[in-house]
Amino acid sequence: DDARSWLGVPVRVFGHVEAVLVVEADGSGAFDTDDQRLLEGIASQTSVALQNAQHYELAMVDGLTGLYVRRYFDSRLDEEMERATRFQTKFSVAMIDIDNFKQLNDSLGHGAGDAALREVARVIREEMRGIDTAARYGGEEFALVLPRTSLTDAYAQGERIRQRLVELRIAVEGHSEPLQITASFGIAAYPESGAVDSEELLRRADRALYRAKRTGKNRVELYWSEDERDRSAAVKGV
Ligand code: GH3
Ligand code: MG
Ligand code: MG
Repeated sequence: DDARSWLGVPVRVFGHVEAVLVVEADGSGAFDTDDQRLLEGIASQTSVALQNAQHYELAMVDGLTGLYVRRYFDSRLDEEMERATRFQTKFSVAMIDIDNFKQLNDSLGHGAGDAALREVARVIREEMRGIDTAARYGGEEFALVLPRTSLTDAYAQGERIRQRLVELRIAVEGHSEPLQITASFGIAAYPESGAVDSEELLRRADRALYRAKRTGKNRVELYWSEDERDRSAAVKGV
């Protein structure tokens, strides 16, 4: 174009130039040092905002597995619950917990445990759709939000992941035998489970997970609304 004056300042993010802010004018000699200082001020504020955004993103992702952290998962779950309620759609939540993980850590060491966590996360990522959200929910516990997914469809997805984990062979440094693991799954669906909010839905998935552990591990258990009766029966000591 026919701009005669040009002023540009770099926008730096953690030391490297991420962008250049540019202003142009038709006349020649249009900008002075005050203009430059003003533009530098804008560039500096821009780089703070970009750095904050990157920090925010980093804080939301678990360093070991690359999956989201619990805090992000919880807000994502709230959001999905709101959407499902408003648009009357369904979705499911899955909790996944590695079986006998403490024993693995104790016998093969923390490095082996970490390798297992990374591999489980990789399998989960490979088996999920673009709209699903996966998080490392606790030490060796993972959680999934599966939008537009019924209880039976979520079961199929859980089974697929469980099966792939069974087939997984994890190489461990200093060991010739590859490591094998299993995991237990608990799934609850909205609205099928009858849960009225996201906390309750997650609790119900956790309840199903607890049943999977109790009944032998390496299984996928579903939360049925009749489970609620079991609980009140248990509370009454029936
Ligand atoms: P269960 O089959 O009932 O789930 O038993 P478990 O041993 O898996 O469960 P438990 O909760 O008793 O133990 C979880 C262990 O996970 C405790 C801790 O040693 C280990 N752990 C937690 N976070 C990490 C981590 O970041 N890295 C490694 N290597 N181990 C971890
Ligand atoms: Mg465990
Ligand atoms: Mg656990």
